[in-house]
Amino acid sequence: MSGSGEFDLIARYFTRPARRSPLGVGDDCALLAPAAGMQLAVSCDMLVEGRHFLSTVEPARLGHKALAVNLSDLAACGARPLAFTLALSLPAVDEAWLADFSRGLYALADAHGCELVGGDTTRGPLNLCITVFGEVPAGAALLRSGARAGDDVWVSGTLSLPAEAFELARGRMEQPTPRVALGLALRGIATAAVDISDGLVGDLGHVLRASGVGARLDADAAANLLATGDTAGLDIDLRRACALAGGDDYELAFTAPASARAAVEQAGRASATAVTRVGAIEAEAGLRLVDAQGAPVTQHVASFDHFA
Ligand code: ADP
Ligand code: MG
Repeated sequence: MSGSGEFDLIARYFTRPARRSPLGVGDDCALLAPAAGMQLAVSCDMLVEGRHFLSTVEPARLGHKALAVNLSDLAACGARPLAFTLALSLPAVDEAWLADFSRGLYALADAHGCELVGGDTTRGPLNLCITVFGEVPAGAALLRSGARAGDDVWVSGTLSLPAEAFELARGRMEQPTPRVALGLALRGIATAAVDISDGLVGDLGHVLRASGVGARLDADAAANLLATGDTAGLDIDLRRACALAGGDDYELAFTAPASARAAVEQAGRASATAVTRVGAIEAEAGLRLVDAQGAPVTQHVASFDHFA
């Protein structure tokens, strides 16, 4: 994008006075000031038209989602959001689109006290990349590597169909709620955590590998977490498959010692987030699916292949 057009657009849609950060949009760098004793938690996620959303997406929903997927990464680490940057590539300057997009973006940003402090704007295929910065007390971040045999496996909220399927089928984009408050409440309680962006089995797999453990997962407990409406008419095999391999939920999957069950439930209440126990960590590597009675489930699940 050339010359004054770019700067007008940044001034109009992406500049607000920084409140928490010492320096926001407008200089060569933004400045952040994490509190003493805190570590910066940094994550970056890109959304590409045609791959993550359709050109017909409502821009306010896209603004929400672009930030939500990044806040979800902070949530999984138990980090408190501070600020974010936005790199934006746009095919053309469409004022109505930009106004709606920035409204959706700022609504979620304000809800989390996370401010836009910089970015880059250029002409090109529609593409969005947000980098988010959070803070967490040194040593207190929730990692993927902390799960231990005997821990419970928990999932927050409800599970759903992959967002792409949702958008293609319904012509609209999901509005995930990043579980930031739950992540903060789980500091010192959860032993490991991950946010679910590729399906429960796939993302729990990251925790199992990083922690050098395996798990037993109750496929029926997971199927019961499907948001009603999405999959009401499907048979149990399909419901299990949706819950295990479906996607893009931006819920947290986490582990905690069995002795911490009451503390996990209290963290759920404190953050107004449902938390459900769906399995147990075991020393033996791999993932074993069981039904509600504890009998093995042999059903094939797409992202299950990682564990073959
Ligand atoms: P530079 O040439 O130093 O990269 P730019 O001219 O690209 O700076 O941007 C000018 C200012 O506007 C910088 O502070 C930059 O962080 C900010 N900025 C550019 N694009 C965006 C955007 N989409 N959202 C927020 N801030 C932006
Ligand atoms: Mg630039």
